[in-house]
Amino acid sequence: MEIVKKGDVKFLVSEKLKGVKHGFSLRTGGVSGGDFDSLNVGLRRGDNPFSAIRNIEICMDALDMEKKNLTLTYQLHTANVRFLTQEDVGKGLIREWGAGVDAVVTDMPRVPIMTYCADCVPTLLYDGVRKMIGAVHGGWRGTKENIVSNVVKLMCEKGCEKENIVALIGPAIGMCCYEVSGDVGEAFEAEYPDCVKKMPMGKYMVDLKKITRCQLQAAGLSEYNIENSLICTACENDKFFSHRAQKGRSGLLGGFIQLD
Ligand SMILES: [Zn+2]
Repeated sequence: MEIVKKGDVKFLVSEKLKGVKHGFSLRTGGVSGGDFDSLNVGLRRGDNPFSAIRNIEICMDALDMEKKNLTLTYQLHTANVRFLTQEDVGKGLIREWGAGVDAVVTDMPRVPIMTYCADCVPTLLYDGVRKMIGAVHGGWRGTKENIVSNVVKLMCEKGCEKENIVALIGPAIGMCCYEVSGDVGEAFEAEYPDCVKKMPMGKYMVDLKKITRCQLQAAGLSEYNIENSLICTACENDKFFSHRAQKGRSGLLGGFIQLD
């Protein structure tokens, strides 16, 4: 992945998804101040919602996406995935989802979808043959519930082939900075021993991005078709929002993708 500048805004993009508009936003080029400086896309983080909506519009324009159709996840740390219908278009922003939808999938052209995070794992998926996209939010709960495998399964039910799906694992907190309590660490230790490190006092360090990669491979994606940003949002808090590094007072980055 590489950082590209589009106007005043920067995005992390990948060659692997060059057939589809996409990007993970950085912090620069927005209108928010203080802890949300400046491109916060989170609507429920304490920032002025009008600033957050303006920032989302800035991202949409920079990525040349159809902003009137933007559809967001509604992230409640579930493992729920929704295949969008026409009726769903615009939900999460101008209309509410009734329940948690931590991942969305669509084959509708000109309907951008967005996930939003600060330390949790944002994943974008694309099948360039079936022309289908997905956007996923994975915190530790969603990752434990293997939300990405639910997304791959749904995409395949809707006509994708596993070998055609490409996945980008975006900026999220790294193992270097993600210390969790014993119960959380133990939840991952047995299944993903290479992705957790036991620490003194019963604590664990956990690599959620690497676990996500393992889960995508186990779901049938080829190793070559998965790219992990490897960026730690806490270490690179100057460029990316980090819930932990900013002690809970942070904006959110967006992961955006749209079929044309
Ligand atoms: Zn770190």
